[in-house]
Amino acid sequence: MRQGFFAATLLASASLATMAQAHERMEVLLAPGPLAADAEQGHLDVTLKLSGVDAAAGQPLLTLPVVIANTATVATTLQNLRAVDAAGEVPLSFKDDPVAIAYARHWIPGRAVKGDLTVSYRAPIDNTPPKRGAGPPYQLRTEGGGLSGVGNTFILIPEGAKPYEISLRWDLSKLPGSAATSSYGDGDVSLRVGPAGRLMSTVFMAGPMHRYPQDAKGGFSAVWLGTPPFDPGPVMDWTQQLHSWMIGFFRDPSEPPYRVFLRYNPINAGGGAALTNSFLTTYGKTGSGEALKGTLAHEMIHTWTAVDGPGQWFGEGNAVFYQALLPLRAGLITPDNYLADINETARRYYSNPLNDTPNDQIAPRFWEDTRVRVLPYDRGAMYFAVLDGLIRKASGGQRSVDDLVIEMVERERRGQTTGEADWLVLLDKELGAAGAKTHAAMLAGGLMLPEADGFGPCFTRTTGKVRRFELGFEPKSLVGDVKTIRDLQPNSEAAKAGLRDGDVVTYGQALDALQGDPEKQLTLQVTRDGKTFPISYLPRAEEVEIYQWKRVPGVPDKACGR
Ligand SMILES: [Zn+2]
Repeated sequence: MRQGFFAATLLASASLATMAQAHERMEVLLAPGPLAADAEQGHLDVTLKLSGVDAAAGQPLLTLPVVIANTATVATTLQNLRAVDAAGEVPLSFKDDPVAIAYARHWIPGRAVKGDLTVSYRAPIDNTPPKRGAGPPYQLRTEGGGLSGVGNTFILIPEGAKPYEISLRWDLSKLPGSAATSSYGDGDVSLRVGPAGRLMSTVFMAGPMHRYPQDAKGGFSAVWLGTPPFDPGPVMDWTQQLHSWMIGFFRDPSEPPYRVFLRYNPINAGGGAALTNSFLTTYGKTGSGEALKGTLAHEMIHTWTAVDGPGQWFGEGNAVFYQALLPLRAGLITPDNYLADINETARRYYSNPLNDTPNDQIAPRFWEDTRVRVLPYDRGAMYFAVLDGLIRKASGGQRSVDDLVIEMVERERRGQTTGEADWLVLLDKELGAAGAKTHAAMLAGGLMLPEADGFGPCFTRTTGKVRRFELGFEPKSLVGDVKTIRDLQPNSEAAKAGLRDGDVVTYGQALDALQGDPEKQLTLQVTRDGKTFPISYLPRAEEVEIYQWKRVPGVPDKACGR
């Protein structure tokens, strides 16, 4: 290994042309500290070995987000950070980007660094619920005598776009009886040459792991630590069947490796995140495997439909549109399950007073208001349903929105561009001006309303009533490290329950799910005059009329998946 590296360096210095082709090596050694089965704190020792470093004094060398997707990383808490090259210890200082919704820390050498560099540090693990509130389950946590986390919260990444051949190695000597795995496979693995940034979306897990199936054959496998409040076996069997079915639906010529990482989530149970070859999903203190199916289906769709292609309305919109439709077609849920899913999306979307927020205002306001945050999901899903109806009508039932989504997936596979412009070309081919018009309306915040039969012959549109979601105070009050209630509405349920302006709250519940469930109470832990106590209320305002769908009597179940 080392010989190979020196050979590459010699070649690189021999000619510029060779230098462009040479790549460097990065080794990531993860050594979890000891963890008792019920430990709530621990640590992970990280050692990075980089070849071919060439940085001037003062030139940023390594980086890690401080906050990513509203999640705090170890950037500000890591300990014993050391960097050593052939000339010895490298003094490091750091500089943070301006504080923003997501920002990074950069470590800067006090002198020039050349050649091999070893960087080591200790990443602390702490299960205390994050002060910032809801975010994806990225942070390191301990569970059942093991640990899990996503690279973007604890692996320092070399600055710049240089490609690396990466090897992931584990030292489990302090976790006897354990195994380790990541998005790239079990134990020590080598990754093909590519950007170091891949480590940001890699899930890691080590400890006394449980698996389904015991011996993974195809691409699917599931791992978890500890003891969920349900047996994950049946739901993982369901997920495996859905995975096989989706491989066919998305015409995937390979059987892509697909790994489910299951872990406990104290504040947003059921939340998940799609990551490299994997999805990370979470459960709470109570609950069933059944309740996870929606998330599992949703996250699996992301592995095929490029999340970052045309925009969030595309990735999240089609994931919500398909999250129950594909399991229905696969025979893995009932038409009633499907109906419940579309009605939940419809209820949250049509009762949302901010559902006319233009698309370009969503990103800047994403974390400050749950009613804005859910729009790419809810409006996006209804947009796909509207398009599906238009395409079926225009083609006399020969084509559907599936054809366009699958074409985008195939473009991605062929290495072609998958931007908004590419989507618009497909829409134009299929629908002409009507396609562009629907798309522009969606972006502008126009109401996306599928036809009465927009979800197939089994269902027809109707209306219902629901009390709209209303926190009762300025939603931005819940953003940031210190959350102080502002602009309390005097007649709101919050005011009636005793909440006051100036109350400081620690995070209560995940608001996106709360917004979708008209029966669910919000409990805020409130600090006032030095005392902390809970205030619970139903975060709802006046009743509004919404669109819903209902079953058409007499149409057989078989006709429902279309
Ligand atoms: Zn999603």
